[in-house]
Amino acid sequence: MAQFKTDLRDIYFNLFNVLKIQNHTGYSENDMKDVINECNKFIEKEIYPSRTIGDQEGVHLKDGKVTIPPSFQAPMKKYYENGWYGMGYPEEIGGMPCPHAVSLACQSIMNGANVSFAMYPGLTRGAMDVILKVGSQEQKDSIVPKMMTGEWGGTMCLTEPGAGSDVGAAITVATPVGDGTFKVRGIKIFISSGDNDLYQNIIHLVLARTPGAPVGTKGLSLFIVPKFRKDGSANDVRCTKIEEKMGIHGQSTCELTFGANGNCEGVLIGKEFEGMTNMFIMMNEARLLCGVQGEAQANLSYMLTEQYAQERSQFGKEIAKHPDVKRTLLKMRSMGRAMRALVLYTADLFDRVHADPTLQDEIAFMTPICKAYCSDEGFNVAIDAIQTHGGYGFCSEYGIEQFARDLKISTIYEGTNGIQAVDFTMRKVLRDNAKTFMTVGAKMQKTMARPEAQIFKEELALIAKNLEKAQAIVERFGKEAKAQKTEAILFHATSFLSFSGNLVASWLLLEGACEAIKSKASATSEEEKAYYQSKTLDFRFFVQQQLVKNVGLSYSMLGFAEDLSQLNV
Ligand SMILES: Cc1cc2nc3c(=O)[nH]c(=O)nc-3n(C[C@H](O)[C@H](O)[C@H](O)COP(=O)(O)OP(=O)(O)OC[C@H]3O[C@@H](n4cnc5c(N)ncnc54)[C@H](O)[C@@H]3O)c2cc1C
Repeated sequence: MAQFKTDLRDIYFNLFNVLKIQNHTGYSENDMKDVINECNKFIEKEIYPSRTIGDQEGVHLKDGKVTIPPSFQAPMKKYYENGWYGMGYPEEIGGMPCPHAVSLACQSIMNGANVSFAMYPGLTRGAMDVILKVGSQEQKDSIVPKMMTGEWGGTMCLTEPGAGSDVGAAITVATPVGDGTFKVRGIKIFISSGDNDLYQNIIHLVLARTPGAPVGTKGLSLFIVPKFRKDGSANDVRCTKIEEKMGIHGQSTCELTFGANGNCEGVLIGKEFEGMTNMFIMMNEARLLCGVQGEAQANLSYMLTEQYAQERSQFGKEIAKHPDVKRTLLKMRSMGRAMRALVLYTADLFDRVHADPTLQDEIAFMTPICKAYCSDEGFNVAIDAIQTHGGYGFCSEYGIEQFARDLKISTIYEGTNGIQAVDFTMRKVLRDNAKTFMTVGAKMQKTMARPEAQIFKEELALIAKNLEKAQAIVERFGKEAKAQKTEAILFHATSFLSFSGNLVASWLLLEGACEAIKSKASATSEEEKAYYQSKTLDFRFFVQQQLVKNVGLSYSMLGFAEDLSQLNV
């Protein structure tokens, strides 16, 4: 397995030079760097070594018991003991307070190193967030302390055989018993961390329908269903199948059967019929984390590929020196860094929204871009990593093909990328009358007007053209919406999200390039200067090789009067 590497300098540059989080979070730059540095060391030493072994060991269901890769057990114990789980949570509950952007940077390093591993505490954090936000005091007191110590884990149970993207089609029922508890009955599939021998107890958050509930998502309520009841007896919830998968083999993705013996106890969390709203507390964060899974694995696969390309020789020179490989490496690096800028920018919005609630709209706008763009483009980077390793990329020796296998799922769960594109186009742009898009556009123009940006004349011209095209696309969609031609809009939703992702990513890379130009003036070491130089190259490359794709995308959305959505496949 190749040696672990993290581009800490680029993480720090984004956080402290571009976003300047030290100015608005109340934490010093040095303290935050120390935390990230320590976390990175821990991940390198304890978590990364379990990545390939965990993939080989896999997850097993035997005699009704689910076992996770044995190689995950010891590092997970240390992960909790060292307090990494508690990052971003208040001290009163045993957490380690820090800005969201810092916590996300650490989660990114961990997701790159071993995504299957990261998902166990990740799901638990999601469930705990819901309990902290809408749980009763008794629910908080009895569950949160156990989750903080790693004794208990959590899951989110939405999907059923007949209810995937259409969550509102769920038929799991929860019948009141009369003593405040419910009997839950139904089957949930594809449940991440669904059962395992890592946690002593698992708190399932289950979407179910009470008797007489309205149809669709409006009739769904959320229930806490523990694996073991308060008296220690086993609840009537069983893992009835482990899903065999393309990747994330260290993750226990389970089919869970609730109430096969009519005795599955659950309690309501939050109000009846508010299940979907409450589930979204964890879904938004989970969607950003999906983007992080794409970004993180792309960035690590680039770091390993760059090293390989510097060492592997063909035709008498290192393959990194052949123009086509050089181009691929630049493509991987600039896309990886663009995605990092995107997820850290969005994480920082979560920190800044406390002082400026209007940023909530920008979070909503950025979330589907982070989720879909970073998982789709992250997967493309993982494929480039395989290609650049040649035959060794296709074989498992270097652990490179695992990135593509582990990463693909990020484009599917937490709402497929197709669903993200629909959400982005219909809700985040059209229903908003493109107000947030225009706010972000104004920020882009501000960056384009920076004195440092003026050396990028041709690149700025293309970004300006893209902003005009964005307006034209929104106008066309608006006209089609008025004419009730929704399908004609939805047909282009994925193109529109890709177009917007390319545009936003170009802007954030430009911001980084401007800061790099400023910092380069006072740089002392050659290494530092080379890094700043690489930031301007990333931006130029991205615009010239990636943003240009928007010319084709916008042509496809604007250039034809014919409505292909009306034709049969
Ligand atoms: C490894 C793994 C882990 C998972 N973890 C969890 C978990 O922890 N909890 C949980 O509840 N679920 C989980 N899921 C389920 C996951 O969220 C669903 O697979 C996903 O929501 C898609 O549902 P589906 O598979 O039924 O696909 P479908 O909904 O059948 O979709 C199939 C295709 O049709 C497209 N499509 C469907 N409807 C539309 C539409 N209206 N517009 C445009 N395109 C559409 C989709 O984009 C997709 O490409 C997991 C799945 C996997 C594989």
